[in-house]
Amino acid sequence: MATGPFDRLVDAARSGFDAADHKPLLEAWQGLSLAQLRADLIERLLAAGIDEAADEARFLISHVLAPVPLAQALADPALFSWQQAEAVAALAWRRLQRVPLSQVLGSQPFWTLDLAVTPDVLTPRADTETLVEAVLAETGSGAARLVDLGTGSGAILLALLSERPAWTGLGVDLSDAALAVATGNAVRCGLANRARFLRGRWGAGLAGGSVDILVSNPPYIVSDVLAGLEPEVRDHEPALALDGGADGLDAYRDIIADLPRLLVPGGLFAFEIGHDQGEAVSALAREAGLVGVAVKPDLAGLDRVVIGRR
Ligand code: GLN
Repeated sequence: MATGPFDRLVDAARSGFDAADHKPLLEAWQGLSLAQLRADLIERLLAAGIDEAADEARFLISHVLAPVPLAQALADPALFSWQQAEAVAALAWRRLQRVPLSQVLGSQPFWTLDLAVTPDVLTPRADTETLVEAVLAETGSGAARLVDLGTGSGAILLALLSERPAWTGLGVDLSDAALAVATGNAVRCGLANRARFLRGRWGAGLAGGSVDILVSNPPYIVSDVLAGLEPEVRDHEPALALDGGADGLDAYRDIIADLPRLLVPGGLFAFEIGHDQGEAVSALAREAGLVGVAVKPDLAGLDRVVIGRR
């Protein structure tokens, strides 16, 4: 029956809709209590290869119940409606396709902030708080111009501005879509008056000697390794924010080459790095004439930050 181009279009749209649809969950959950539904969801998350299934089920259900606490809804069936079950099914269905939890919920906590997250930005990771801590430990409360190269969601820039009221910040990114997310996050965090954003390739658009503190979490995954990452990262996070080239160091080479020009004398830089890149990135920094170069570990004891000064 479906023969013409219009019919084919409708069929394609319908099968796309069916694939994304959460009907299978909804049918399985018909008539279940919230406790049974939660148990079933945990089982399905585990079967889909998601390890923190109990926590994730709690996040997904709580997102729909809010502001009612999960424990209260578990105790009182009247607090969990059929419409809410449908909303949980819609979220859970996406998560079961290995869409990152942050993208399913639309936000992710980072430092003391709650940041909007879309597929256009890297989800802020707890590891990256090591970079924020390292910069805070090296700086005082005086005025400073902060630049974040490859700002993505704006996580690092906004966390630092939230801790240093006298600083102003500039977030640079190659992606317009990422800049839109970061700009929205600056407003969301009440920091828009001190945060500006600029489209550009690393520091190319910035004037020499215009930066007191430069931070970056650039793409640092070795290109060949990308395909082996978990589906959440590989299929749903932007390759632009992850792919560091053949040896993972492309972005560091570009940025470090420009640091002596960008930083004021004595200016601070800090990069997030992969756990096995401490030596290589430190060497690049020293070769560029930067001083006081040091590697800092994250909470797991893995090398995570390279810091130094001009
Ligand atoms: N830490 C991230 C990951 O392993 C990578 C971040 C980056 O390339 N800057 O997924």
